[in-house]
Amino acid sequence: MKLIIAEKPSLARNIAAGIGNMKKTGEYYEGGGYLVTWAFGHLFSLCDVEEYTGGTVGERWTMDGLPCFPAEFRFRLRTGTDKQPDAGVIRRFHCIRDLCNRPDVDAIVNAGDADREGEIIVRLCIRYALSMPKPVYRLWLPDQTPQTVAAALADLPPDEDYDRLADEGFARTYIDWLYGVNLTRFATIRSGTLLRVGRVIVPIVKAIYDRDMQIRNFVPDVYYALVSKAETNGEVVELTSRFQFPKEEAEKAARAAKKMNGATATVTAKKTKKENLKPPKLFSLSKLQNYLGKKYKMPMDKSLAVTQKLYEDGYLTYPRTNSEYLATAEKEKIKKILGNVAALGYPVKFRDGKTIFDDSKIESHSALTPTYKIPDVGKLSADEKTVYSAVLRRFVAVFCSEDCVAQKTELTVSVGSYEDHVLKGTVILEPGWTRFDDTVRGGKILPSLNKGDVVNIDFRPVEKETSPPKHYTIETLNNYLKNPFRKEKAAAGEEGDDREEYRAIFEGLELGTEATRTGIIGNAIRSRYIELKKDVYSILPGGEYLIETLSLLQISMDKFKTSFLGQALKKVYHGEITVEDSVALAEQEIREVFSAPVNDPSDPAYGGGYGDPAGVCPRCGKEVLKSRYGYRCSGYADGCKFRFGAVLCGRMITLAEAKELLETGKTKKLAGFVSKRGKSFDAVLEIKDGEVRFDFS
Ligand SMILES: [Zn+2]
Repeated sequence: MKLIIAEKPSLARNIAAGIGNMKKTGEYYEGGGYLVTWAFGHLFSLCDVEEYTGGTVGERWTMDGLPCFPAEFRFRLRTGTDKQPDAGVIRRFHCIRDLCNRPDVDAIVNAGDADREGEIIVRLCIRYALSMPKPVYRLWLPDQTPQTVAAALADLPPDEDYDRLADEGFARTYIDWLYGVNLTRFATIRSGTLLRVGRVIVPIVKAIYDRDMQIRNFVPDVYYALVSKAETNGEVVELTSRFQFPKEEAEKAARAAKKMNGATATVTAKKTKKENLKPPKLFSLSKLQNYLGKKYKMPMDKSLAVTQKLYEDGYLTYPRTNSEYLATAEKEKIKKILGNVAALGYPVKFRDGKTIFDDSKIESHSALTPTYKIPDVGKLSADEKTVYSAVLRRFVAVFCSEDCVAQKTELTVSVGSYEDHVLKGTVILEPGWTRFDDTVRGGKILPSLNKGDVVNIDFRPVEKETSPPKHYTIETLNNYLKNPFRKEKAAAGEEGDDREEYRAIFEGLELGTEATRTGIIGNAIRSRYIELKKDVYSILPGGEYLIETLSLLQISMDKFKTSFLGQALKKVYHGEITVEDSVALAEQEIREVFSAPVNDPSDPAYGGGYGDPAGVCPRCGKEVLKSRYGYRCSGYADGCKFRFGAVLCGRMITLAEAKELLETGKTKKLAGFVSKRGKSFDAVLEIKDGEVRFDFS
């Protein structure tokens, strides 16, 4: 008898349905030579620092025992806290343990989700449950339909085939623990504020911080452009000159416009061609999230949860994929699915080609597609309908039997000998696949002009402003995180060569992975570091404080370090380095942070810890203490609002400086402030009328 351990109850149910005629006994399914039971996702987590150092878990953090580098990482059951013990987890593990050790069970099957996280979730269950050696196999499911389950069960590979995937999974878990635990405690103790530091969350918050600071400090440049909007044959032809003039040269701009208007503008060339427009690629998870974010303002945690639900119900393939391609081995399966989709009335036919099937662009999962199982759309929730229909319609667009035919036109209008304007327009003649996917719309319709026509012109100087960079959206942030070393312009383009993008993913240059990114961004939102409104991210005061404090504490957790470790993890996956090697790299980085000067309240460079007294309140005479965002009067509850920031104009006000300010009413001249416009300046801080002010005199 084989025991199958599924990652989640829903997967166990689908596996049982694939085997057929199984009996459920409350804790597991039995029948047909199989037992099927389940975990609740992670039943185990890594031990806390105190469990390695002999301290008491939950006590106030200290620097004792930090940085903590366990000689051997230990896991423990997630049994909750003493206050809230999780009896369900314990019962679940006992059930798995009893079934593993049943004498009639001669083999175990790891049925974690088909990714590195799923691989180690079930491996850990087996590691701690099985008390005698038994062979372990792997059930790897690209989707959860009964057909796929039955086919995979007929040909189970040994679980050792996935050892390197597990190695990468464990290495990732250890490294993220080392960073999260050590740097969170270090930064929290040294700043006196709870700061959640992690390998991936910090560069994500930093990207949003940097962009928002660029926008905040942006000074627009005003200039004159020469624009002509004149009618020819009843149609307005808009031409914008390449000549531009600075704000001070208004007269020069007017003279230039007059000169150009004296010339004759004619159409000197017209090119027209019909073209079949290619459909976009299938969806990877983030491309689907981009689409849903842009079109429906659906946040990433929601689009992932809905996609996951559709996968668990068997309607979509495995969602956490980073590929927009299908495997060549899947052609027969796709033909069958196309048959089911055609039966719904969609015009589809099988198409082959490198833009759809490309094994070199698949790491472990193919693009997201519908499965054989077509849902009864009336029974889906509104969000499920939105997501399913986006995936289905993209699939139909890619395999559409009708071509999209467009007419592309290029007109050249020459303004005397001054300059040529090339106008481009696209008119869609036959909609084809664009009926199902509106990623590409018909472009501009050009005025009906022919070669030799004279075009009326009326150039005038128009005042314009350079525009600031744009806030990150779900789409642009995702594109940045997938390849943080590429210029955004290229990343935004759907078209063109995507080899570089896939190289970045396969080498581990990306920040986070398709499977983890949604959760980490969700954490940053819940920690109030960033916020998401519609599909636009912006930094919150807590996020500014995080980034500025880390920089003051010289904790550098930028994209270079994060992706350096990401590449090390990929090398573990490719068997080029060991788990221990990658952990040693992380330890070295963390040691550097800890080797920065120590935390000593008598050190003038010490920023102040939570609760440190700084002096007497100038308004009410009570004690001023270092608090979360700065120095604050302890008479706050009695209505005294005296406070000032621990970071003013980009400069940390140390505890010693705050003490001097409160004791004498002013500080020495302090250097290193930075104005909103990015200029650095020196100033004295003084207390005037119960407020802290800059004194420039
Ligand atoms: Zn006060």
